[in-house]
Amino acid sequence: MVLRIYNSLTRTKEAFTAPRGSSVKFFVCGPTVYDYVHLGHARTYLAFDMITRYLGFLGYNVTYLMNITDVADRIIQKGDELKKDPLQLAREYESAFLEDMKALGITNVAAYERASEYMPQIIAQIKSLVDIGVAYETETGVYFEVRKFPKFGQLSGQIQEELGLRRLELCSSKKNPEDFSLWRKHDSGLRWDSPWGQGRPGWHVEDTAISMTRFGETYDLHGGASELVFPHHEAEIAQAEALSGKAPFVRFWLHTGLLSIKGRKMSKSLGNMIRIRDTLREYAPADLRYYFASIHYRDTVSISDLALKRARNHLKALQKNYNSFHFLQPGTGASKAERMNFLRRAESEFTRHMDDDFNTARALRVLTDLARKLSLLARTGRGIDQKSKDEIDQRFRRMADVFGILS
Ligand SMILES: [Zn+2]
Repeated sequence: MVLRIYNSLTRTKEAFTAPRGSSVKFFVCGPTVYDYVHLGHARTYLAFDMITRYLGFLGYNVTYLMNITDVADRIIQKGDELKKDPLQLAREYESAFLEDMKALGITNVAAYERASEYMPQIIAQIKSLVDIGVAYETETGVYFEVRKFPKFGQLSGQIQEELGLRRLELCSSKKNPEDFSLWRKHDSGLRWDSPWGQGRPGWHVEDTAISMTRFGETYDLHGGASELVFPHHEAEIAQAEALSGKAPFVRFWLHTGLLSIKGRKMSKSLGNMIRIRDTLREYAPADLRYYFASIHYRDTVSISDLALKRARNHLKALQKNYNSFHFLQPGTGASKAERMNFLRRAESEFTRHMDDDFNTARALRVLTDLARKLSLLARTGRGIDQKSKDEIDQRFRRMADVFGILS
């Protein structure tokens, strides 16, 4: 079996080919640190955590990179409201975010990179885009001229005429409504020097400055929530491919589905945000992991106490079944071959589902069934020798670790 991943760019499942043991570069859009992170973030980051774990399970050596958006209008606004230095405010919410990630068991991010620490690279990219002729300066800033990049719209499936109707960043000095900002001129507040005077970068170029500095002109996987497809990821592609002249910028684009509460999208404007840290007061990280794993990462997850409680009960049953085997006293019993056949079958089923665009929902069911079989094996009391027991134990754990649901 070969791993197939749904690529948002081609809207098909494509074979992911890379030599086993080789390194895989994975970039995921991190949070804008102006508030505590919520369950929508947990959904996205847990999905990419499990995907990274599974790539590791297959033998890939993943370098997982995440940016921290610490330069953004929302941070500056909140800083003004609270009379706080915006970068200081960003650091506080960044620490809170890292605590929440750790609490969720997300420890495989190789590096978190702050936009504010990539200002020379950001400015260099903007300067190159102007030099190439795909960006222009006005009295308010520097803008990417979308019409100069005919492939713009390919990720979100929009044609140029439609894009003109999707007005981005209202500003009268732009040539066209669809053009997006690379640099905004500001003579007060948080700002840096640049060839276009003092100001701040746009959001999209922060991410390409970080990813291209760390990964080069092209790389393997880029993940994010589906709401980032347009305009953010379109803009990233336009910037990167205009700069390098190489396509595709990223081989596979992965997007997580929405998170909803009582049928409505969780959002600031609806006032129905649930913070990760508040949820973790009531539920264990493994409960959340189990619940999110039970739904495919591209599907919408709906959050309710009932759903989380049910997930917790299912997880408890799985753990109980596994523990009854794990704490079994070894003895002598059926032959090793007999012990291992069901395990091998479960492993191949598990891999088959995970290879199908990371179908954690089905793979989790395989694991649940396997735990039930192990508890049955423990109960029949025919004994099992230490060596076989250890091997089964270790191979079961290896699969469970993809979800991170066993302590
Ligand atoms: Zn991003």
